[in-house]
Formats: sequence, C-alpha cells, structure tokens
Amino acid sequence: MNRLYILILLILSGNIVFAQNTSTPPTVDEIKILPVLFQQRSAEYRALCYQAFNLAELRINCIKKRDIRKGHLAIITDLDETILDNSYSEANLIREGKSYSSASWKKWTDLSAATAVPGAVAFLKFVHQKGIEIYYISNRKTDELASTLKNLQKLGLPNADEAHTLLYAQDSPKEVRRQLVMKDHEVVMLLGDNLNDFADVFEKKSIDERFQSTDNFRKVWGSKFIVLPNPVYGEWENALYNYDFKLSPEEKKATRLKLLKGY
Ligand SMILES: [Mg+2]
Repeated sequence: MNRLYILILLILSGNIVFAQNTSTPPTVDEIKILPVLFQQRSAEYRALCYQAFNLAELRINCIKKRDIRKGHLAIITDLDETILDNSYSEANLIREGKSYSSASWKKWTDLSAATAVPGAVAFLKFVHQKGIEIYYISNRKTDELASTLKNLQKLGLPNADEAHTLLYAQDSPKEVRRQLVMKDHEVVMLLGDNLNDFADVFEKKSIDERFQSTDNFRKVWGSKFIVLPNPVYGEWENALYNYDFKLSPEEKKATRLKLLKGY
C-alpha cells in the first residue's frame, strides 16, 4: 500500500485532523518563550540596558555640584525588570507549563536570587557616590520586604534599607509613595520598565491613552524619565486586554490577533 493511499484512508477515517480544526488555546510557553529568551539571551537586551544607564549617568552628571551639596536630591527607581532580573521565574513557569500566580512569584522572591539588570549596580553606586539618595518604589508586597532587602544587599546596592524601600501596601499606589519621597526631596530622576513607574496618568489606561500620555511627555524620556526594556510582562500587556483579567486563553489569543497591525 503506498503512502498516499494510507494518508487518504487516515483522512477519510477521521484519524488525521487538520491544524485549523484544532483551536487549542496557546500555552504559556508559546506566548512567553521568545520574550524571555530576548531578556536572557539577546545581546540587544543587554545593550538596551547599558544604553539606558549610560544616558541616566550622563543626566546625573549634568546636575550642578552646588545643587547636590544643598542636599535633599533623590532618584526613584522601580525594582523588577529595572534593577532586578526576574526572568528565571518566568523561565521556570514555562518549563513547568504553569501561569504566573502570586504564590509562584512569592516562591521566587523568597529566594532573594534575582540578578541585577546589566548596568544597574554600577549606576546606583555612582548616584550614591554623588551624594544623591536612592528610593526603591516597587509593587512587591510588604511581606516580601525582608527577602527583597536581602536580595538588594547581596547585590551590594546602596540605600538598601527599610527607609528607602517602599513596597505595595493596601491603597498605596506608586503615586502615593512617590509623593511621600517628594515631600522631603527633589526627585531628579525616575527609572522603570513600566510607564506606571513614572506617572499615574498611565495607570489602567487604554492603548490610545497610553500613547497620548507618552507623546505628552515626549521631551522627558531620556532626561528625567529613564525606561528599561521589558518584553515579557507589564501594563502594556494588560492594556491589550483592556484590563479584563477574566478573559479565557482563547479570547486573549483572539484579542492579540485583532490588535495586530498589518498593511
Ligand atoms: Mg518593574
């Protein structure tokens, strides 16, 4: 019996189902594997991080010495995917075929094992040497404070203490914590991988609104606001789904396809 004849028999008997008839939802693996590899294995990601911190250093060097001597200058930086590389947690989820959960995240942060984003340690040490304070504002939860400080201290980061690390407590969006720092300090720079790290106008906003606000801040990017790349997760992804966290994997896939811009 030749191969073609066997194939026809299999199709007729229903034992071969064509791919287009099996619309299985995409696995975590299919969606996240390439962005995680970009973060972990592309030299381009490293170059982008160095580029961000080099630019940040240049901007800090523009601050007049007499302004620094007056004191009360500070920078605010996010932690995850700005200073800390958590891609290992994502990689494990992919390998295990699991999705992100607060339990999986806590299991990872309990290890205090994040490495530093390329260029982050040298930049923060440089800022500290200049006499500028560093405040870490992160949406890690307050029960992650001890493990987070341990992680920052392991990396030798300056100002890695409770007074300079403001994590997420109930009803405390990042803007509230930014204002707390701004009460006593002149904040000369903000660093983040998520636009929520810079201003509250980006919080829970649509794609178009996020674009508009980004354009409004056109001159601030690369001067007071320094952005690090994060292709794996962030508010940009939530905006794709219009913050509907109840969408099924199939609905999410359909939404992603609908949002693609072709020609
Ligand atoms: Mg972040």
